[in-house]
Amino acid sequence: MALSEFEIIDCYFAHATAERDDVRVGIGDDAALVAVRAGHDLAVATDTLIAGVHFPAEATAEDIGYRALAVNLSDLAAMGAEPAWATLALTLPAADETWLNGFARGFAKLADRFGVQLIGGDTTRGPLSITVTVHGWVPAGTGLLRSGAKGGDAVLVSGTLGDASLALTLLQAGELDASTHRDFLSERFFRPPPRVALGEHLRGRAHSAIDISDGLVADLGHILERSLAGAVIEADRLPYSMAMRECTSPAQARQHALAGGDDYELCFTIPRQLEQEISLWGSTHDLRLTRIGYIVTEPGLRVVDAQGHEVSLESCGYAHF
Ligand code: ADP
Ligand code: MG
Repeated sequence: MALSEFEIIDCYFAHATAERDDVRVGIGDDAALVAVRAGHDLAVATDTLIAGVHFPAEATAEDIGYRALAVNLSDLAAMGAEPAWATLALTLPAADETWLNGFARGFAKLADRFGVQLIGGDTTRGPLSITVTVHGWVPAGTGLLRSGAKGGDAVLVSGTLGDASLALTLLQAGELDASTHRDFLSERFFRPPPRVALGEHLRGRAHSAIDISDGLVADLGHILERSLAGAVIEADRLPYSMAMRECTSPAQARQHALAGGDDYELCFTIPRQLEQEISLWGSTHDLRLTRIGYIVTEPGLRVVDAQGHEVSLESCGYAHF
C-alpha cells in the first residue's frame, strides 16, 4: 500500500464523523471508551459487505460507504433503537485514495444524519470486505422483537416494496440507465433509507418488527416463526412505487414485492386499534405506511387476491420454497 495503515486511519477515519458527548476515548487508543446510559439496553448489530456479493460492480465507493452503515442502522431501526456509535473493520486490496475518499464520504454523510460517531475499527490488506458494527440504545425492556406478533394484529410495511429488486433486475439487464425512473430506482437500490425514526416510534406500540433485507415473504416468515403464528397477506394491498407500476406487469410487481430483497423497509405488527394513530404518524413524517394483511393463530403464510382466493407462493417467484 502506498499509504500505511495508520495514514489511512488518520486521513480518512479518525475525524470522519461528528463527535458525541458520550465518547470518552474514540479512535486512536487500543479500544474506545463510551459512557453507558442508565436504564437502557444496548442494541448491537453487525453486517459484512463483500464485493460482488453484496453490491454490484456499478456501485461507487460512496454508495458502498453509505450502504455499509445503512444496512446496520436498518437493523437498529428494526429493534426500535436510537443509534449512537459504529466501528468499521475494513479489508482493502490496495490503498486507493480516490476510493477511500468516496467511501469515507458516503459513510460519514449517513453517520452525521443519524448522530453516529465512528469510534474504532481495524484496517487490513486483502480482498475487499467491509464489516460495520453499530451500537444504539433502547429504554430497558422496550426493544422491538420478532417474537411478539399476536393473532389479530395488523401487518404493516413502510415505504414501497420491490423497488431495489426491480432496480437490480434492470441494472443486470443493462436497462437501468435508459429508464425514466433511473434516479429513483438507483436511489432505492444504492441508498436504502434506514427507518430509524419509525422504529423509535414503534417502541411500546408494535408487537413485533423486522427490517426487510431478504424479501417480504422471507422476513415476515421470521416474525411468524419466532411468534409461533401465521399471516395472511392481501396481495392487492402491497404498496408499489410509480416506477414499479410503470416499469413492470402486475405479476412481476407482486414478485418483486414478495420475493425481492434489499428494500430495508420495516415490516411490523400492531394491535388493530393502533392502526389509525400509526398511519397518522406516517403522514406527518412523510412516510407511507400500509397495512398489507393480518396475523392469524394458525401457522403458515398465505397470500390472497382481492377475491380472497389463495395465490400460490410458487406463482409469485418462490420456486425455491
Ligand atoms: P490495535 O493494533 O491496537 O488494534 P490499530 O493500530 O489497529 O490498533 O488501530 C489504531 C486505532 O485506529 C484504534 O483506535 C482503532 O480502533 C482505529 N481504527 C483502525 N482502523 C479503523 C477504521 N477502518 N475505522 C475506524 N477506526 C479504525
Ligand atoms: Mg488492530
